[in-house]
Amino acid sequence: MSETKHEAIGAYYHTLFSAWGRQHWWPAQSRFEVIVGAYLTQNTTWTNVERALGNLRKARLLTIRGVRRTPQSKLEQLIRPAGYFRQKAQRLKTFVSFLDERYGGSLVRMFARPTAELREELLALNGVGPETADSILLYAGNHPSYVVDAYTRRILERHQIISSAASYDEIRQLFEQALAAIAANAQQSQAHGTVHLATRPRGSSHPPSAVSEVTRPPVVQVFNEMHGLLVGVGKNYCLKSQMRCDACPLREFLPTSKIPENRELKIAGLKNVD
Ligand code: SF4
Repeated sequence: MSETKHEAIGAYYHTLFSAWGRQHWWPAQSRFEVIVGAYLTQNTTWTNVERALGNLRKARLLTIRGVRRTPQSKLEQLIRPAGYFRQKAQRLKTFVSFLDERYGGSLVRMFARPTAELREELLALNGVGPETADSILLYAGNHPSYVVDAYTRRILERHQIISSAASYDEIRQLFEQALAAIAANAQQSQAHGTVHLATRPRGSSHPPSAVSEVTRPPVVQVFNEMHGLLVGVGKNYCLKSQMRCDACPLREFLPTSKIPENRELKIAGLKNVD
């Protein structure tokens, strides 16, 4: 059964990547910007995060030094658009204090830690749950740690690949194992210069950025793309209150018993419809 699940996840990856190509996650100019974004995106939309990041950038404070030297009250005002601004400002300060005390303020030193050990350290920080820790590890640190979010869980549950009781780590390990073979093949393809990269901006893709264009180990690149691709499905088709299966690139994989009776047939106006 587990092999079947792995095969299904592999097939989802190939289908989505063929349809939408690279997603260019994470949209940021620096690794620290990824970390700040990972904190700010908790319980809010990315649009609000962008407004908060824009304020920090405009004030030239979107740096480790900037967060370190800025009084918390000023930080709170700058990140206010992202909501829970007092809590988030405190958490950003806590992260920078951790970085200073444990790694002399160096992200290079921090990310040189083995993945599992650094993951435990991040999880011990106030306000860092598994999704935030894995976002930091994967997107800022290029560590092979898969990010599981609500979209991923919803899609897998609807496709009967996991139960509603599945734990975060269970899902994370499922993806990490399933995508390992794809990464190995990608490595071979890269060696021969034959990696297929569709260029159409689909799914939840972002414009290329300094962080998204970094060369990563194949396994990290595949984890990176898969998470972005599933966000694209969750945002555009597999909504919380509506399943737009008829237009969804994953429709061929939906178990027959799960096809909704009142399927969304109106696709006009939908963005990113295949
Ligand atoms: S919209 Fe339908 S086909 Fe697409 S992922 Fe959700 S349940 Fe599957």
